[in-house]
Amino acid sequence: MAVFLPKLMLLLNPLILGILLAYTYAFVKRLAGAQLKCNLVMGVAMGVAAATAMLNPIVLSEGIIVDLRNLLVGLSGAFFGVFGFVVTAAIATYTRFVLGGSGVLSGIVAMCAAGVMGLLWAHYVRNRISNTAISLAALGVMITGHLAGAVLIPVEFRYTFLANFGGWLFLCNIIGSLTIGSLLIYEQTIIMERSKLLLQATRDPLTKLLNRRALMTSYENLARADRERAGVAMVCFDIDHFKKINDLNGHIHGDEVLIELTQRVRACLRPEDLFARIGGDEFLIVLPNITADEVQATAERCRKAIANDALITSQAMTKTTISIGVSWNRDKMGFDKLFSFADEALYTAKAHGRNCVAHHIVPQFTPNERASYPASAGLRV
Ligand code: GH3
Ligand code: MG
Repeated sequence: MAVFLPKLMLLLNPLILGILLAYTYAFVKRLAGAQLKCNLVMGVAMGVAAATAMLNPIVLSEGIIVDLRNLLVGLSGAFFGVFGFVVTAAIATYTRFVLGGSGVLSGIVAMCAAGVMGLLWAHYVRNRISNTAISLAALGVMITGHLAGAVLIPVEFRYTFLANFGGWLFLCNIIGSLTIGSLLIYEQTIIMERSKLLLQATRDPLTKLLNRRALMTSYENLARADRERAGVAMVCFDIDHFKKINDLNGHIHGDEVLIELTQRVRACLRPEDLFARIGGDEFLIVLPNITADEVQATAERCRKAIANDALITSQAMTKTTISIGVSWNRDKMGFDKLFSFADEALYTAKAHGRNCVAHHIVPQFTPNERASYPASAGLRV
């Protein structure tokens, strides 16, 4: 019992830390979002956990300590990639170096071996074994490869270390991988499912553009954040005679035309412009912080990008055009109001023969702006 209890504590400490780490991961992933940032933060968290494990070891001899830091470094490589592993290993290596003693070199080599094993598991094993428990047990076995570092332990302690702790560390690595690993996988699955649902709720499945509801939400946030007040514009466009395109070359070609066409229009916009599909062949773009002249030029650029060159899909080549309605206002205005102006302008463009841009001039123009508003390329409502 006197020997077993410290060994049990050796296992329990990283397990408790691991459970905390899994919850930290869920929290960090929601907060940081980007994978690289998340891997960095988790690399630090795993490194601190490994350092904590080292501060509470079984001391085999002066400078030779036994703990489960390798399990944590291995898990970092397995779940947080090269970046996470390097950060965790750096913190753990520094701590081991400060603790000193004759086991420093073997300790550092063992940590690197465990991390590399974790990385290899993530690349070659994880997706090949469908049973999560078996896959995680395999991770535990692989992490135990760190025992190879024992060759660097002074020879007089090597045998004692392997005989007393080899089997125990092997068992702990498997238990640790199973428990901490399954918690991390569980959190990863929940996060992935949630982002898939969010994507489905906010994106058009065909063109991957925003849907109308997501555009409205973004517009509301934008309107509040828009401090420079150069003005906000909406560009609403609809493909001319799209039914004929479907009838002539089939629905699949029609779908591909929608994708190709929206990519061309996207290339004419600024990164901050919000682009949504709001109906079958009807689209709406919100352009924040833009002057009346600039939105005029953008709408014309979009029109020409479609009219000038045929769209090529896997099925056929199609020449088509779009009709565009533009609305612009200097001050904050409700989504529905600004959209109704753009939509009215779109109908005017259709009525005037299609393949043109119509503008709704909002009454907030100053006389100077109204006079300088470009008339050549578009219609006025
Ligand atoms: P107009 O110039 O007046 O806009 O004529 P139009 O033929 O484009 O008429 P309208 O905009 O009313 O027709 C839209 C057509 O778009 C009707 C429908 O068959 C087609 N459509 C709607 N959604 C999809 C889609 O997801 N894929 C394909 N291929 N066609 C679609
Ligand atoms: Mg149409």
